[in-house]
Amino acid sequence: MISVVKRLSIIDVERCTGCQLCMFACSRRSGVGGMGQSRILVRSAGGIERGFVVVVCRACLTPPCLKVCPVDAISQRPGGGVIVDPSTCIGCHRCEEACPFGAVMWDQAMNKPMICFHCGYCSQFCPFKVIALEEVTTRS
Ligand code: SF4
Ligand code: SF4
Repeated sequence: MISVVKRLSIIDVERCTGCQLCMFACSRRSGVGGMGQSRILVRSAGGIERGFVVVVCRACLTPPCLKVCPVDAISQRPGGGVIVDPSTCIGCHRCEEACPFGAVMWDQAMNKPMICFHCGYCSQFCPFKVIALEEVTTRS
């Protein structure tokens, strides 16, 4: 069966000004002000002249974080990326260590991973269209 799903993509990081509106938006989506619950991270690339780096789940088709979870708390999301079941997670940090992009954020208070689930909410707030939801065709 062919289906179309959406996932968050970094369109052009060169356009990022480091405003961090995406981070505020993601955190607010969880009902928390500030940036503490953000599943996307924007940081300086090492100096103001060198721009910014956007760190977020890249929607791997074979996610390393999923493979290393000892209690199967992470499942494959259709079209790439993962879904975490916090009630199963034991907070071992293995998914965080396994992600090659550093895209597993950590909720210190709950001791659980925070991984982007590709809702696209943050992309609506990026003034420069650095990030966007993209459609992906999948076959099963
Ligand atoms: S922290 Fe939770 S989700 Fe991540 S690998 Fe460990 S048990 Fe699985
Ligand atoms: S797509 Fe959704 S979950 Fe992912 S970083 Fe943006 S707001 Fe957060």
